[in-house]
Amino acid sequence: MKRVFIHTFGCQMNVNDTMRMTEALASMQYAATPTAESADLIILNTCSIREKAEDKMLSALGRYRQVKLQRGALIGVGGCVAQQEKQKILDKVPYVDFVFGPDNIQKLPEILQRIEADRVRVVETAWVDSESYVFPQADPGTSRGKATEFITVMKGCDNVCSFCVVPHTRGREVSRPFGDVLKEASALTTVGVREVTLVGQNVNSYRGGVSFAQLLLRTAQVPGVERVRFTTSHPHDLSDELIEAFRVEPKIMPHFHLPVQSGSDAVLKRMRRDYTVEQYLERLKKLRAARPGIAVTTDIIVGFPGETDEDFERTVALAEQVRYAGQFSFVYSPRPRTGAAMREAEWGTVEHAVKVKRLDRLNALQKRISVELNAAFVGKTVQVMVEGPSKTDASRRFGRSGQNTVVNFDGDAPAGSLVAVEIGHASASSLSGRQVRVESLPPVMIPEAAALVPESCVVA
Ligand code: SAM
Ligand code: SF4
Repeated sequence: MKRVFIHTFGCQMNVNDTMRMTEALASMQYAATPTAESADLIILNTCSIREKAEDKMLSALGRYRQVKLQRGALIGVGGCVAQQEKQKILDKVPYVDFVFGPDNIQKLPEILQRIEADRVRVVETAWVDSESYVFPQADPGTSRGKATEFITVMKGCDNVCSFCVVPHTRGREVSRPFGDVLKEASALTTVGVREVTLVGQNVNSYRGGVSFAQLLLRTAQVPGVERVRFTTSHPHDLSDELIEAFRVEPKIMPHFHLPVQSGSDAVLKRMRRDYTVEQYLERLKKLRAARPGIAVTTDIIVGFPGETDEDFERTVALAEQVRYAGQFSFVYSPRPRTGAAMREAEWGTVEHAVKVKRLDRLNALQKRISVELNAAFVGKTVQVMVEGPSKTDASRRFGRSGQNTVVNFDGDAPAGSLVAVEIGHASASSLSGRQVRVESLPPVMIPEAAALVPESCVVA
């Protein structure tokens, strides 16, 4: 048996791709290993959403060079940077043996055979046509030991947000046929999974034979599935039908990640986001009326080209008004071949120090709001899906509320149980309490010694 170590950067799509890589390599007798130093094959599954992610990838490659020198390990680069920068990687890093794009994961065994047979560097970054693209089918065995799992329902993105590199690295949108999604959900329940999260860059524009709302409703009906989540969405695809699904199906969890990006219409226009702040708020109002108590989280970019102090104040005011349960805020990072990078000189670069100050202010605001929102749960009982031992104190248990908040608690329920937890303490990022009742035990007992993520998967 040979050993593979996969270093995963970036989003959940990449984490899922890493699992499919591990499965493809199992057919070549490769088993996952937790350290690069013990590997015969090292793969970097890269992210190019911001420059920092690319820099991290390059510095990791530098570290793995030693393993190549000492053990003769093969080194491959996959994911979004590989797709966009294949030539740069090959030129700059002579010890990389192969480069492959997100559409070429299934070709990994063939790539390795070619390297062994011909001793050449291999590049596989061709797009697969939308019509011919076949989503890798997950092996449920990979998910054994997890109460909650992700299912890829689409790839690529047909939007043209001016800051975003995804359409250049992941190509056009392709939706996975809904029957395949339901089959995968069903297969996952046989190994103990009770909560599934449907993932894609823009899931609510799903077109796999039924609407996205229908897909959620049908997934909720799969026997053994108790909770359904999804990520991530574009506000302009938040349809009335999707809002209605939240009203009628309690298995769809009360959490919606709805990236707004900016609170200024002028900035949204330059970002090519296709909605105004007023339209965004109107959708949100409808959603909150359909599902009272729903937690809404968001992404915000600060320092987008031309963002003035007034624009930024509008973003702060929006965040105050919406009171997001969580916020992922980023400093704008120019990406190659994107519209905003090409027009940055015309629109005006925001100074780095100003960007950082704005980011700090948003983060401080979010911390205050999160503390206030979480404090409201103290003294209340929330339902939690148990995922295993607490990451901060192994004598306690850990899970998530319906709103997707981390809950650490004193209790004994096995992973996969749904329990009622009385909340005693709250912080900005989590709740803490004690188990007062087990509401349902998992039909399949989960061996908790199993890793929560594949051993080879290290998210930077
Ligand atoms: N599809 C989702 C949407 O439309 O809102 C977002 C997916 S994107 C992979 C994740 C987040 O990365 C975005 O919401 C955005 O806030 C951030 N992001 C994307 N490009 C960026 C850039 N050039 N600089 C900083 N942040 C960026
Ligand atoms: Fe990128 Fe999301 Fe816009 Fe698609 S919708 S281009 S993934 S930010």
